[in-house]
Amino acid sequence: MEKIQVIAIDGPSGAGKSSAAKKIAEALSWDYLDTGAMYRATALALTREGVGLEDEAALFGVLGSMRLEQLGTRIFLNDEDVSEAIRNREITQFVTPVSADGRVRQVLVEQQRHIGQRGGFVVDGRDIGTVVFPNAALKIYLTATVEARAQRRFLEQQAKGIAMTLEEVAADIQRRDHADSTRAVAPLRKADDAVELDSSGMTLDEVVVKIVEMWNQVQSTTP
Ligand code: C5P
Repeated sequence: MEKIQVIAIDGPSGAGKSSAAKKIAEALSWDYLDTGAMYRATALALTREGVGLEDEAALFGVLGSMRLEQLGTRIFLNDEDVSEAIRNREITQFVTPVSADGRVRQVLVEQQRHIGQRGGFVVDGRDIGTVVFPNAALKIYLTATVEARAQRRFLEQQAKGIAMTLEEVAADIQRRDHADSTRAVAPLRKADDAVELDSSGMTLDEVVVKIVEMWNQVQSTTP
């Protein structure tokens, strides 16, 4: 299988995937694709249209008409910047059933492959190395303990003025871990050829340096 110039970063919620992916893309002058933001924006589009997953015709109507675009680190839904709107609690809850839906995944995976096919992308998500880009030149499975992930998320939420206690953040992370890894379609799991990296005791910069080093290693060993 011919490799594609993609660094795939998968792992559970709050492991630092998107922060690391953004910085790695910057360091390599590549683009960054946040697939979680695509699932969130889809959940937002459905919420706004008042469409649930049980109404198949309406679901396909929304999936077929919504336009998602990522420019840098911002995500646009039908030309509106929804980067903040997709992070609220309601969407964070609703994105779980939305992302477990095979019909939604089929549409979004196709878009993700289309966007990333030219290479030069750092892509983060749950199924990037297993489903979306099984031919990615480098696959990372980024993990951290629940405590470390909850603590980081909690500080991020505080900085954004989102009122949640540490216990609530930890419970949300555990709920999503369970849902993501037990769902029938594209469950979260480490690809056989992914490198596992535990970021619990590491700073963001250390994670970035480590992954860029791995990328340089891959390049130097690729004929
Ligand atoms: O990464 P983030 O937490 O923003 O992703 C939102 C949700 O989208 C996750 O909880 C997960 O259920 C889902 N997701 C997914 N597959 C991806 C990326 C995200 O199922 N590739």
